[in-house]
Amino acid sequence: MTIIDILESRRTISYEFYPPRTAEGIPAVFRSIMRLEQYHPDFISVTYGAGGTTRAFTEEIAIRAQREADCTIMAHITCAGQSQPEIDGVLGRLQNAGIENLIALRGDPPAGEADFVPAKDGFAHATDLMKHITANFNFCLAGACYPEGHVSSPDLRTDMEHTRWKVEAGARFLVTQLFYDNDDFYAFMDRAHGAGIDVPIVAGVLPVLSSSQIRRFTQLCGASIPPKLEAILERFADDDDGMREAGIDYATRQVQDLWEQGVRGIHFYALNRSYSISKILDNLRLPGHEGLVAAERG
Ligand code: FAD
Repeated sequence: MTIIDILESRRTISYEFYPPRTAEGIPAVFRSIMRLEQYHPDFISVTYGAGGTTRAFTEEIAIRAQREADCTIMAHITCAGQSQPEIDGVLGRLQNAGIENLIALRGDPPAGEADFVPAKDGFAHATDLMKHITANFNFCLAGACYPEGHVSSPDLRTDMEHTRWKVEAGARFLVTQLFYDNDDFYAFMDRAHGAGIDVPIVAGVLPVLSSSQIRRFTQLCGASIPPKLEAILERFADDDDGMREAGIDYATRQVQDLWEQGVRGIHFYALNRSYSISKILDNLRLPGHEGLVAAERG
């Protein structure tokens, strides 16, 4: 089923997983997928690694999850380090395997490098990739968007202009980067409507697991840490168990507010873990997404 059809019929809960570094890690990913399956996600997505073998695992996990978990799949693909023929190979295999949904991204520069350099015969921007996919393949396409602006965008107005180009290039819906202050998301929604963007926008939520991890992630993606979260990070700086429970509480409140304000969907960055998300969904008991079993740590 296409995700745009789902989004047009109901508000969604979805999860994102990433491919492990080695094949030995795949069973653990599937254990998480199957645990969270019990909360009836509307779709799950599998990210596209920065390079090497994990890319093959993206295909493997997406195709196998579509077969084994009773769920709609969205595969991620990026322009990074791949020529158009190589990208076409991946897209052809996904399409032949029946994957209908794809989020098309640019990808990040390698660690330590500031600028994104397109591969020879590759694509420089997500919109270039999207136009190519729209013209040559048959996927329900999504694009990324940034409530606080993309780290390398010069200003919010330019960032929104580029977001609008994604919709013009074929994105049927958008998924946001993580954010911790819902007011950033609401201000982004107002700017998006003002720019004429009328596709559904799904909010990306990352429950905090550890203080150091969230500082690293937010620094990399340019998301800010609001004072109320900063206080929690300081309090549990050396207590990962305490931080995880506080992260569940913070994300529960964040999602509850987003849901009450009418968000079209919540996309949980699961980081291949199921415990925090199952606890958050147990707390919220959103219609259609109540759990069947007590949450296990994982
Ligand atoms: P783009 O839309 O190309 O934007 C990148 C920058 O270029 C922005 O500053 C934008 O304003 C600017 N820009 C865009 N178009 C133009 C143009 N025509 N001319 C000039 N400037 C332009 N990364 C992975 O490696 N794998 C994943 O699976 C993955 N999944 C993600 C899922 C989501 C929901 C999100 C939010 C991010 C994901 N990322 C992933 C990270 C993503 O690759 C980075 O955020 C990347 O830096 C930008 O990707 P983009 O698709 O938004 O790029």
